[in-house]
Amino acid sequence: MRTFSAMLFLGSIMMGSATFAAAPAAIPPILIGVPTAAQVNQRCDMLVARSTALRKALETSKAKPTVATTLPAFDKLNELIGGGAGEATLYRETGATAAARSAGEKCEVRMASESTKLSLSRPIYEHIKAIAAPADETTKLYLTRVLGAFERAGIALDDAGRAKAQALTDEVSTLATQFEANIPKGQRTITATPAELDGLPQDFIDAHKAGPDGKITLRTDYTDYIPVLTYAKSSDLRQRFYREFQLRAYPDNDTVLRGLVNKRDELAKLVGRPNYATLNFEDRMLNTPDKVQSLLDDMASAARPAAERDYAKKLAVLQQLQPGTTKLEPWDNSYVGQLVQKQSYGYDRQEARKYFNYDNVRDGILKLTEDMFAVDIRPWNTPKWDKLVEAYEIYDHGKLIGRFYFDSHPRDGKYEHANAVPLRTGVRGAIPVAALVMNLPAGKGLMEHGDVETFLHEYGHLLHAIFAGQNQPWAYESGITTEWDFVEAPSQMLENWVYDYDTLAGFAVDASGNTIPRDLVEKMNKARYFSIGMDDMRQLGLSNVSLQYYLAPAPADLGAAARQYDAKYDVLPPAPYSQFQDSFPHLAGYGAAYYTYRWSIVIADDMFTEFEKHGLRDQATAARYRKLVLAPGGTKPAAELVADFLGRPISLDAYRAKMEKDQ
Ligand SMILES: [Zn+2]
Repeated sequence: MRTFSAMLFLGSIMMGSATFAAAPAAIPPILIGVPTAAQVNQRCDMLVARSTALRKALETSKAKPTVATTLPAFDKLNELIGGGAGEATLYRETGATAAARSAGEKCEVRMASESTKLSLSRPIYEHIKAIAAPADETTKLYLTRVLGAFERAGIALDDAGRAKAQALTDEVSTLATQFEANIPKGQRTITATPAELDGLPQDFIDAHKAGPDGKITLRTDYTDYIPVLTYAKSSDLRQRFYREFQLRAYPDNDTVLRGLVNKRDELAKLVGRPNYATLNFEDRMLNTPDKVQSLLDDMASAARPAAERDYAKKLAVLQQLQPGTTKLEPWDNSYVGQLVQKQSYGYDRQEARKYFNYDNVRDGILKLTEDMFAVDIRPWNTPKWDKLVEAYEIYDHGKLIGRFYFDSHPRDGKYEHANAVPLRTGVRGAIPVAALVMNLPAGKGLMEHGDVETFLHEYGHLLHAIFAGQNQPWAYESGITTEWDFVEAPSQMLENWVYDYDTLAGFAVDASGNTIPRDLVEKMNKARYFSIGMDDMRQLGLSNVSLQYYLAPAPADLGAAARQYDAKYDVLPPAPYSQFQDSFPHLAGYGAAYYTYRWSIVIADDMFTEFEKHGLRDQATAARYRKLVLAPGGTKPAAELVADFLGRPISLDAYRAKMEKDQ
């Protein structure tokens, strides 16, 4: 589930022009209360009208272009569009009705279109280009990035070419939004007999009562799917459920995906690039398809031996259950994996699960932030869009520095993954606002340790957005505005803390009030590195799907191509009937760049060495990290931020060492 966490809207809005931030102070960050479709539409009309007015004013401005005159107006426009896009995403993901969610979806497309109009405005480009090189590095970097974004959008084309670029970019954002929205709509169900739930935790069984026909209905969302695939003893049930899961949104999304790949290919060629991946990577740390392919190969050479060891361990356990079996099937993977953890490492995931109810975990995560970064988090009394939504304020030495929402629990029709949605950036004195949208069990409902990790991961994005949004001069560089292939690193690094006994002991308490035992956490740590080789090879396979799809027009058979690209790395590829490409949301939001998660993990592992050296709860290291890596936002290239913290360039050594930890 962790790998599906993302801030998709940033990916979507960055497709054309890398322009995003949050709404100006005059506009509240979101609609108050429970927005109806009509209210969302009205709000969107207002945002588009303001964006149009600001754009027209800038286009017709007679002022001499300077950093003091042109740039603030341009920056405010970016802030408006970015904030509007964040809002629209929130309505699409969390709207109370299908109509409200659909209004959010439409608004996302309209905000993306506003972004494209800006990035194709020749008069605005001319104004920005005419600004004399500023003295300060931050503003210089701003101008370099903006001019690059104009160029990639197609600003050099003639009128007809720019109109074509606008039309194609609009089509791409419509298709991307549709692709993502089709995934929850493409949910499937299966039925199971009560006997088939044997092996599942009791609270899961209690929550899944049989209907009048004696059958239990299971839905292909993660809250049903992950526990069944992990714990159900019935291989037949796991196989049936796996099959349905692999067919979510198929075949509807095949048509959408084909359009998306082809339109992006056409757009890239229109602006003079050989393929979309080339265009998509130009403003990244790894800025060419060759560099990305090399990364995948370098990582695979470290991960493959570990993956082969993982596979052998899993197969050996499966052979105890099914003598004579010669290979693993994909639906055996999680089930056998947890058995290996139990048998070879003495780590029982169900035992650990008892200590993680939502309320404790949430309190623990907030407390961890307070301890590490010396801040205070207090409830924020503000209207919310659902009775289970929570709101908080974060204070630094008595000064309010950010506000956030947690929309943590599943509802019908709600976004089915976990992501962080920045809603307003902290620029020119504004307070940053962000939301986490997740699907965790409520209250005393128990969570997997992996869910705790996902929660902390997404929360890491939220913290990054807030710490990087402290009175920045420019919205364009405020919040999470570094190169896109860096953005997962802070969140991935933070995942390490859910393996830290001192952190866990602060909140992991079972129903009788017992704190998680130290030896259970030690076993968890021993079991931790088991299967990371296989898991990473799977992720490298998915990264390759995302890369290869966008090196050419769409292949004739999208499913067959996806399975083939994946199998180059994945040591346990999906079944031949799988159509996983249709429910792989990053193919829309991240385009060719799903490798972002892999590159970010390399950086995360590298940065974490500083905490290993000085202690996970060392406030001085945390403060240095916050100051050098998080707080600067997009004011410096990410490679420099990391080098400032590490005192040397990024290296793959920590990643390679991690792959050797389980022998
Ligand atoms: Zn993430």
